[in-house]
Amino acid sequence: MNRPAAAYDFVVRGATVLTSADSFVGDIAVADGRVAALGAVEAGTAEIVDARGLVAVPGGVDAHTHFDMPFAGGTTADDFETGTRAALFGGTTTIIDFATQRRGASLLSALEAWHAKADGRCLADYAFHMAITDFSARASAEVERLAREGVTSLKLYLAYPGTLMSEDDAVLRALRRSNEVGALVSLHCENGRAIAELVRRALREGRRGCANHPLTRPPELEAEAVRRAAALARAARAPVYLVHLSAAESLETVRRCRQGGAFVLAETCPQYLYLSAREYERPGLAAAPFVVCPPLRSREDAQALWAGLAAGEFQAVASDHCSFPARTRPGRPGKDRGRRDFSRVPGGAPGVETRLPLLWEAVQRGDISTGRFVELAACGPAKAFGLYPRKGHLNPGADADIVLIDPRHRAAITARALHHAVDYTPFEGLTVHGAVRDVWLRGKRMLSQGRLLGRPGDGRYISRSRRQFCL
Ligand SMILES: [Zn+2]
Repeated sequence: MNRPAAAYDFVVRGATVLTSADSFVGDIAVADGRVAALGAVEAGTAEIVDARGLVAVPGGVDAHTHFDMPFAGGTTADDFETGTRAALFGGTTTIIDFATQRRGASLLSALEAWHAKADGRCLADYAFHMAITDFSARASAEVERLAREGVTSLKLYLAYPGTLMSEDDAVLRALRRSNEVGALVSLHCENGRAIAELVRRALREGRRGCANHPLTRPPELEAEAVRRAAALARAARAPVYLVHLSAAESLETVRRCRQGGAFVLAETCPQYLYLSAREYERPGLAAAPFVVCPPLRSREDAQALWAGLAAGEFQAVASDHCSFPARTRPGRPGKDRGRRDFSRVPGGAPGVETRLPLLWEAVQRGDISTGRFVELAACGPAKAFGLYPRKGHLNPGADADIVLIDPRHRAAITARALHHAVDYTPFEGLTVHGAVRDVWLRGKRMLSQGRLLGRPGDGRYISRSRRQFCL
């Protein structure tokens, strides 16, 4: 039932409204920060926003960002303020970042530390995964409490031995324990020990440039870890979410593991779709901005990922936003750490602002449908991580996180026009059709015709619910 017209706070009128199931030209009525009605709405005295000719989509959900992340005695360039501001300009209204356990320390203290980083600073809603460095008995005991605090996902790494990597037994325990409390485990799939050996060998042979980055992290070592992750999940009778898949072989492995009965959710990122390992042929540090882990792959890999997106084999496209400046400053490790050794380049690139526009561009190019766009940009990650039905779609009752896209706009992506805290984007010069024009967060207008109205502190912590699907 629609509410009496006078009760609406405002009505977005005449937009092409996209959901994951369909699209229609109509209105969105908002009351008390939520979507109150859809379709032909009687506005009464409510404010009317003329959205004819514009496209209305649910606010983006980016399930993979690293803001204010400790690294090499400093932090990443973007903190929760600059990171969520950039998110907003890119039509993303909810991010999930990673609180990270210090080795041997408690998970709850990590959560507390990350709340302190984000509290009062965000311009988008935010939630936390818990990144595990040491799944101890104490950590295991804290998982239930974490879930009560709204942290219903853990992330473990099969890469980075000595710092972040977990052994298979710890991964198995984390999968089992998470499943008991309705939390989801996500995994970074690359074979850390084999990669470390390839890196040592390259350095021994005097191969020190960024061209060696993809050579020491080959796709077969990602696919091996994907297979192991799926096998461990099956053995634990738990679902698993695989972050940032980059290669055709990994996707093929996911396909086979699913056929074999594994419950595998998969994510990829715009950099693996739009860029390729040819970027590493740039001389010297010019290649360093493109050093991400897993590395950029071949064009054929990107094509396979596009086909996977179109076929519904991925549940989310996330940014993996992890920004490092070109030059190191005090407290801000930069890409130039790898001047003489590619393995010391901090891995990561900015992308929280370009993620949704690049997915929209995929719709314009005919690579994915509008339904798939909504699924990958918002609905899928919201469902996987316990934000649905509050986030990720525009149905009545959902948070009024609304993004208006002007589809007539056409411009090249340039670092100068972006809002993150580093002065480059890996997508420099790439032309995209459509621009994010207006953004509402829980009914509050945050962006108006490209002008920022939101403030730090407008974004709230979102306590996520436990897993809604069962095996
Ligand atoms: Zn990441």
